[in-house]
Amino acid sequence: RPIVAIVGRPNVGKSTIFNRIVGDRLAIVEDMPGVTRDRLYGVGEWLDHNFSVIDTGGIEIEGDSELLKSVRAQAELAIEESDVIIFMVDGKAGITAADSEVAELLFRAKKPIVLAVNKIDNIKRQDDIYEFYSLGFGTPYGISGSHGTGLGDLLDAVVGSFPENEEEEYGEDVIRVALIGRPNVGKSSLVNAILGEDRVIVSDVAGTTRDAIDTPFERDGQKYVIIDTAGMRKRGKVYENTEKYSVMRAMKAIERADVALVLINGEEGIIEQDKHVAGYAHEAGKAAIFVVNKWDMVEKDEKTMKEFSQKIRDHFLFMTYAPIVFLSAKTKSRLHKLLPVVVQVAEQHALRIATHVLNDVISDAVAINPPPTDKGRRLRINYATQVTVKPPTIIVFVNDPEMMHFSYERYLENKIRAAFGFVGTPMRLFSRKK
Ligand code: GDP
Repeated sequence: RPIVAIVGRPNVGKSTIFNRIVGDRLAIVEDMPGVTRDRLYGVGEWLDHNFSVIDTGGIEIEGDSELLKSVRAQAELAIEESDVIIFMVDGKAGITAADSEVAELLFRAKKPIVLAVNKIDNIKRQDDIYEFYSLGFGTPYGISGSHGTGLGDLLDAVVGSFPENEEEEYGEDVIRVALIGRPNVGKSSLVNAILGEDRVIVSDVAGTTRDAIDTPFERDGQKYVIIDTAGMRKRGKVYENTEKYSVMRAMKAIERADVALVLINGEEGIIEQDKHVAGYAHEAGKAAIFVVNKWDMVEKDEKTMKEFSQKIRDHFLFMTYAPIVFLSAKTKSRLHKLLPVVVQVAEQHALRIATHVLNDVISDAVAINPPPTDKGRRLRINYATQVTVKPPTIIVFVNDPEMMHFSYERYLENKIRAAFGFVGTPMRLFSRKK
């Protein structure tokens, strides 16, 4: 999915527009119990395009209260990570110094920029947009966050600027692995540990995403590539430690990966930020493994691992399918357990079940626990078929899709998993009218 960032100085109405674009299609994980409602990103849809939207609005720069500095960091962030930038200004206020500051940064970006002039609440204000031509980003699109007007034309322009589909960079036999997690969880250390003495024969290759450097390697006849190793090694930028930065960087890497290693700091435990990062892997339909790192620092007895696993299950209710691996990147203890699990989940992510086999399982499931009824009518399941892999996606043909409850869908998913595994991969079930 392309990434669209909304950039602008505070108070121009970025969050309002973000909400309008994302609507009720908020990231699924946010509806899960125990997950914060902070909106870091959402999914937008326009014409036939799906895209991720990021409201850079509330970005916090640690120890920095200066407005301009924060605007600058925010814009830098968006420039680096997004595919298209919506530059938002305030039609009522006109061009301010902060707008010019942002504009200057955006000028240097080699990314498409669409200029949105917000607060054009009625036709009489339409003339207010003209002064914004002087910013030099072409046609200003007049919009109104409060009335929702003008968004169609704006989104036409945004979608029209999406990059052409990037070519597949690696063959089908290569497992693409992304390491994600908050700063200092040990991502770079784990990459080094995995590569170990193979380092010498490893050469970094530039990915098609600007700034991304991937690291290919081979082990026991299996080819892998670690996606965006450069992103992990980057240090010292002002936004490095902000949550949005790591989420955005992770999003980019995840998009290009098959398997996401979600790193958790075993020493410090799970924090909210881990959920955002993990949630994106889930949303993006990638295979996932929880890797509890720094296990060398944990005082343990025979119950510790089980207890920590339970904590992970409690915190990540939406990802019960993901296996958990405990290790230490530093001492390399238990490191050998990791790659076999990576291979396993990659296989399961690409698993395809024949329709007749799938339907045997569905029939059994329906016989044990019949579908729900509504006003005397019963949901009838005709048949199911797996339409795609990565992630496995199954369409269930029914008499009335409205009658399919979330809980029954869950039940079917559990039965399918019990029969076929699908370990480490999210699954998608859709109901369609027969
Ligand atoms: P990144 O920001 O996620 O890439 O994290 P780094 O790989 O830079 O690691 C952050 C810090 O944690 C460094 O000081 C590492 O030496 C340390 N570290 C990483 N993995 C382990 C581990 O397994 N055990 C211990 N004790 N320290 C670790």
